[in-house]
Amino acid sequence: MGLFTTVVKQFLTENLVVRKTKISESAYSILIKGDHIKNIEFIPGYFLRLVIGANNENLSRKDTVISYSVWDINHTIGTVELVIATHSKGAGANWIQQIQPGDKVFFRWKKGKFLIDESADSYLMIGDLSALSHMYMIRRNLPEDKQVQSIFYCQQLNDMYVDIDGTTPFDFYEMSQNPIDEIITKIEELVPKLNGSKMVYIAGDSRVCVALNQYFRKKLKFGTTQIKIKPFWNPGKKGLE
Ligand SMILES: Cc1cc2nc3c(=O)[nH]c(=O)nc-3n(C[C@H](O)[C@H](O)[C@H](O)COP(=O)(O)OP(=O)(O)OC[C@H]3O[C@@H](n4cnc5c(N)ncnc54)[C@H](O)[C@@H]3O)c2cc1C
Repeated sequence: MGLFTTVVKQFLTENLVVRKTKISESAYSILIKGDHIKNIEFIPGYFLRLVIGANNENLSRKDTVISYSVWDINHTIGTVELVIATHSKGAGANWIQQIQPGDKVFFRWKKGKFLIDESADSYLMIGDLSALSHMYMIRRNLPEDKQVQSIFYCQQLNDMYVDIDGTTPFDFYEMSQNPIDEIITKIEELVPKLNGSKMVYIAGDSRVCVALNQYFRKKLKFGTTQIKIKPFWNPGKKGLE
C-alpha cells in the first residue's frame, strides 16, 4: 500500500457506496452510507472533498481530491447523496462511471461560505450542471415564502435532472459554453421581478462567476452581502488548482 493510500485510510472516514444511478445524459447520482453521517451538524451548502482512486498509484493529488456538493442527507440512516457531472471527462468523471455499489469511498466534510442564507426576500440562482445539486439543496431549504428566480444552462437540456423530491423548481436554458451575454439578457428580465431585498447565488464555470460578479456589483449595484459566488471549475485547469 502506498503512503497516500495509508494516509487516506487512516485520516478519512470510510463509507460505502449504496447506489449509483444515471439521472441524465451527463450526470450520475451516488448514495453513500456512513455511520458518522448520522451525527453531522449539517448546513445546506456543505460539500465533500472526496478522495477517488486511493489505491491507484498513477493518480496525482490534483486528480484524487475532488469537491462535490451534498444534494441530500438523511441523518436517520446515515446517508448522503451527490450528483457528479461527466462533462469534464477528468478523473472524477471517470471514477463515477466505474464505481459500483459495495465499493468503499473516502471523504472529508467542507463547510465553506457558499451556504444557505435566509436573510433576503427574493433570490436569483444562476449556474451550470456542476452547480445544480448545490442550488437544489439551498432552494429546498429556503422558507416557502421566499421568491426564487433561476437561470440554469447547459449545452443540451437532457443533461439536466429533476430535484431529489421529483420537482423541477428551476428554469433550464440551452446555451453555449460561457454564455455571459445570454445570461445577462435573462438577468435583465428577471431582476425587476424580484421583490424586496435581493440576493444572487452564482456557481459553476469560473469565467461566468467572474463576469457576473462584476455585473452585479458595477451595473446592478448589489452589495457584497447580496452576492454569493463560488467558482466550481476553471477551464483548462484541474480540480483544486
Ligand atoms: C464547492 C464545490 C462543489 C462542487 N460540487 C459539484 C457537484 O456537486 N457536482 C459536480 O459535478 N461538480 C461539482 N463541483 C465541480 C467539480 O469539483 C469540478 O468539476 C472538478 O474539476 C471535476 O473533476 P474531474 O476530475 O472530473 O475533472 P478535472 O480533471 O478537474 O478537469 C478536466 C477538464 O475539464 C474541465 N472541467 C472541470 N469540470 C468541468 C465541468 N463541470 N464542466 C465542463 N468542464 C469541466 C476542467 O477545466 C479541465 O479542463 C464542485 C466544485 C466545488 C468547488
